[in-house]
Amino acid sequence: MGNWEANVRKVVPYVPGEQPAEQNIIKLNTNENPYPPAPGVAEALREMNIGKLRKYPDPTCKILVDAIAENYGLNANQIFVGVGSDDVLAMIYMTFFNSKEPILFPDITYSFYDVWADVFRVPYETKPLDENFCIVKEDYYGKNGGVIFPNPNAPTGIYMELSEVEDIIAHNQDVIVVVDEAYIDFGGASAVPLIEKYDNLLVVQTFSKSRSMAGMRIGFAIGNEKLIKYLNDVKYSFNSYTMDETALVLGVEAIKDKAYFEEKCEMIIATREWTKAELKRLGFSFGDSKSNFIFATHERIPAKELFEALKEAGIYVRYFSKPRIDNYLRISIGTDGEMFKLIQFLENYIK
Ligand SMILES: *Cc1c(COP(=O)(O)O)cnc(C)c1O
Repeated sequence: MGNWEANVRKVVPYVPGEQPAEQNIIKLNTNENPYPPAPGVAEALREMNIGKLRKYPDPTCKILVDAIAENYGLNANQIFVGVGSDDVLAMIYMTFFNSKEPILFPDITYSFYDVWADVFRVPYETKPLDENFCIVKEDYYGKNGGVIFPNPNAPTGIYMELSEVEDIIAHNQDVIVVVDEAYIDFGGASAVPLIEKYDNLLVVQTFSKSRSMAGMRIGFAIGNEKLIKYLNDVKYSFNSYTMDETALVLGVEAIKDKAYFEEKCEMIIATREWTKAELKRLGFSFGDSKSNFIFATHERIPAKELFEALKEAGIYVRYFSKPRIDNYLRISIGTDGEMFKLIQFLENYIK
């Protein structure tokens, strides 16, 4: 037997939340949007010119880049698109995190950050959240190879004021700072306007949560045109056609419909606030989530037990068996009806 395994790039992969095959479950485990995409998406899908699939898609993704630029009042050369923000973030790691100094991110955060660091062989250091699960901005002042954090943070849902986000950027102008805004549309202020002031800032957003398009895989980064150019150079050196024709066409429809987007975000926020009050009544505590999920712990019943009981009842939530957070459940916000059933089940179980 040869020794080929010595040179395999071995990684411990990211583990996404379960996607069970059963149809009649209440799925609150992967922060998907409970509402369908904007009506224009279904229409565009019905009318799609299948003949176009014969050809390669536009490698510049112009129609989608232009639609995103228009939505934010920016120029096309300030937008980079990819196959979900996971793809965008992976490209960012490859392009910008090449220092010998470690990149910095919180100890409790999106669990893909350390996986990308491992796969791209980027040294990293984690900075502990404080006892209220807040990011401590001063921890990010020292020398480093780059900074990345979500705002609001995941899986805590906790939002950091824009002035604090800016403080971290201002203290790190020799490296790239990435603000992952997967959940910003559910109540926070975006760092996008700061790209005019800081040429080292990349803001990453996704169509997966607030735009109901997780299955389509569309994410994007917003930043200074020089950063976007560097990202595109790496993308074209990796795969020119990351975005397929369908994603480009349907993505345009999803972002065009501002009224539908705002209405659905407001509905989710209202359901979230109702769910918070009900969970509190049942003895749960949690930080003040500004996302489409609540990260909650019960005063008496262990999270793991609740997780299993809920699953048995066909209600899927997320549980992380990790230090500091292994007594918490991450509960995505579904429809009012779904959250009502969740609360009803918990109420009976806890009694
Ligand atoms: C969901 C999520 C993403 C990835 O979303 P995509 O579906 O790949 O666009 C990125 N960052 C955070 C913090 C997330 O929660």
